[in-house]
Amino acid sequence: MNSLVATSRNFRKAARILGLDAKLEKSLLIPFREIKVECTIPKDDGSLASFVGFRVQHDNARGPMKGGIRYHPEVDPDEVNALAQLMTWKTAVADIPYGGAKGGIGCAPGELSNSELERLTRIFTQKIHDLIGIHTDVPAPDMGTNAQTMAWILDEYSKFHGYSPAVVTGKPIDLGGSLGRDAATGRGVVFATEALLAEYGKSISGLTFVIQGFGNVGSWAAQLIHERGGKVIAIGDVSGAIKNSNGIDIPALVKHKSGGGVLKDFRGSDAFDPKELLVHECDVLLPCALGGVLHRENAADVKAKYIIEAANHPTDPEADEILSKKGVVILPDIYANAGGVIVSYFEWVQNIQGFMWDEEKVNAELQKYMRSAFKNIKGMCQSHDCSLRMGAFTLGVNRVARATMLRGWEG
Ligand code: GLU
Repeated sequence: MNSLVATSRNFRKAARILGLDAKLEKSLLIPFREIKVECTIPKDDGSLASFVGFRVQHDNARGPMKGGIRYHPEVDPDEVNALAQLMTWKTAVADIPYGGAKGGIGCAPGELSNSELERLTRIFTQKIHDLIGIHTDVPAPDMGTNAQTMAWILDEYSKFHGYSPAVVTGKPIDLGGSLGRDAATGRGVVFATEALLAEYGKSISGLTFVIQGFGNVGSWAAQLIHERGGKVIAIGDVSGAIKNSNGIDIPALVKHKSGGGVLKDFRGSDAFDPKELLVHECDVLLPCALGGVLHRENAADVKAKYIIEAANHPTDPEADEILSKKGVVILPDIYANAGGVIVSYFEWVQNIQGFMWDEEKVNAELQKYMRSAFKNIKGMCQSHDCSLRMGAFTLGVNRVARATMLRGWEG
């Protein structure tokens, strides 16, 4: 299912539960601004290459718009739109003073050299610099981008507006990045998992986990699960999938990957068909990669008891229905992966205050925000007798609706 259709369907369901006015519902759904720019760069061989870049600013009722910039071949207007909308609900669920936005460039970053990526990022920044800013829209890394990408955006933006570290988050520590930001999404996923399991009298220790994706989110989640005594029995990424029923040696795998090795060649585990990954026997399944990976064709075969949506919109609404009927408990993306944007907020606050926190404070505050959001979601589930997804959506949508009405924008 198209990602925008799927995301909007969840929003509409929440609006109905909340009994939102139809006009307000429509205005909350439509993005504030959609930007599309052409970015042409000279390649290293002297030829020219053009890429299309997007920034969708969805909503700013609760504060500056906030969200990552993705470099991926599947970046298209609907996908960026859906992700921007999810950021609006995500920042509201986390109760941080932001709206939502998302950007991206349709490109395969692995096929571009470092200097081509730098040129592409600088051109993109030149085209959008007037529309982003510390109090308007604050980009961050997402799939295919990282702290270096943020450093280039910061540098290019600063040529026009003066040095402004708070214009992006997820920066290198040397340029005002926050300690703990790199691990934050994965750490937040683990805090969210702990909060959910505690409801069932369980903890990570002794349970089995399957992880799809071993990038920033998946690898940090795997390390922290491993540290807590969880058994990661299968992992997959673009290169393939590996399994070991005794538990994969995660620290050794991280070393293997940082030494330039690919996941599927990791020794001490067996390669298997990546198509089997999401339906592999386990207690907890963590999709940490792309959206739409759980759909009506594979949902019925999922064997996990819990799904933690570390990726954005990994479960389409049809799969959601099938899985819920089977009794699988799904922890929704707009809560489960909010750790990244929560620590982005801490980074922005530190930049504005000109005062750096130590890593213990960052992690402790992150845990506080994740626990409190879970409690509030559960509260909505109880008042509206609904799933965790609708608990999270009603919590987020209600906060944005209230801010919108208080500001008098409901028309
Ligand atoms: N890209 C991350 C997300 O999807 C982080 C966004 C941010 O920190 O602004 O939540």
